[in-house]
Amino acid sequence: MQSTNLLSTNTQAYIELEDRYGAHNYHPLPVVLEKGEGVYVWDVDGKKYFDFLSAYSAVNQGHAHPKITQALIEQAQTLALTSRAFYNNCLGDYEKFVTQYFGFDKVLPTNTGAEAVETAIKLCRKWAYEKKGIAENQALIVVCEGNFHGRTTTIVSFSSDPDSNKNFGPYPAGFISIPYDDIDALKEAMSQPNVAGFLVEPIQGEAGVYTPSEDFMRQARALCTQNNALFIADEVQTGIARTGSLLAVCGNCTCQTKCERQPATYARPDILILGKALSGGVYPVSAVLADDAIMMVIKPGQHGSTFGGNPIAAKVAIAALTAIDDEKLIQNARKLGEIFRKEMQRIIAQHDLLIKVRGKGLLNAVVVNDSPDSDTAWRLCVALKENGLLAKPTHGNIIRFAPPLIITEKQLLECVQIIETTVQQFTK
Ligand SMILES: *Cc1c(COP(=O)(O)O)cnc(C)c1O
Repeated sequence: MQSTNLLSTNTQAYIELEDRYGAHNYHPLPVVLEKGEGVYVWDVDGKKYFDFLSAYSAVNQGHAHPKITQALIEQAQTLALTSRAFYNNCLGDYEKFVTQYFGFDKVLPTNTGAEAVETAIKLCRKWAYEKKGIAENQALIVVCEGNFHGRTTTIVSFSSDPDSNKNFGPYPAGFISIPYDDIDALKEAMSQPNVAGFLVEPIQGEAGVYTPSEDFMRQARALCTQNNALFIADEVQTGIARTGSLLAVCGNCTCQTKCERQPATYARPDILILGKALSGGVYPVSAVLADDAIMMVIKPGQHGSTFGGNPIAAKVAIAALTAIDDEKLIQNARKLGEIFRKEMQRIIAQHDLLIKVRGKGLLNAVVVNDSPDSDTAWRLCVALKENGLLAKPTHGNIIRFAPPLIITEKQLLECVQIIETTVQQFTK
């Protein structure tokens, strides 16, 4: 645990309050935030920081985005929640908008990432029994080691992280795990009977921004097609412009707005899972998209969510996706990502505190030259915080850098300077 004696009494009081009354299921960096705007957040003492986490890529559009917050406020004052027992005048517009935006027949609206992943698993299984003809309760879903898909009991059951699943059993059956980015292992897993689908992150964000080889997604897509299994992409973190394309499965797509003209590298999922930036971070909104042949296996009463598809979520998501196009965030993430990695390479070459940088678009990570059990990455993040930049270690010695996609080149270079200065000052 970090020492808190350098913190203001104001900051300490807030930390102690959470510590005293909140469950200890997180270990936050010792900073207490009270305001956000664009790429900046401010703490309770008025100190300003660059946000280089963006709430795990939920705030791609930047904090307090005027059009997104306006949509939230207006709809909250008009009609917040009807439940799906009745129709409302926002949901249909949103469903049309989001399906056309991503190019699928149907959407099933949900609230959080984990809820959307659960929905995708249920959808895949039901499709397997009713369309593929797998015998009841025999369906298998292939997943990858190092995955992060959320925190429900089913999802953590196929996590390979002991923190995530130890003592949360018994685990449900029906999942097989293969190494990430291993096409031969996938081929072998797929050759088993009863495989219903392959659930995968196009880049493993939580695991430490592991980017698979260029062709993995496309080959996985092809293997699913050959074996009549569903290719399920969890783009909760990688999607919606974060990696320099609308979706990370779009590969090196260079289309100007969104993926209307699919490039040859596009590994189109059968089921697409979105969350986080779908609302720009102002409200929990997630979604599962699929075509009719899959989505229509779910009939009334077979799945649901009280808040899923509520009027506020519908309005907020349209505003959040519109901002992606209007502000050309795909192009900005792609361009600034290249600059960021180049600058990090330069710093890495000069300092042996850092080993390497990896990532795509503005989802990047730097590996710190120490054991994953050391607190070096944590202390480096505390030092970055002192110098005005907020980032968080993931899996011990890896630091993820993921600013809001609205960041300008000038701001990004200022951040590179903060990182460089911090690295120079830092002693292990
Ligand atoms: C964050 C995340 C989730 C879970 O989302 P929650 O909203 O926290 O439930 C699922 N999958 C991926 C890839 C994520 O990054």
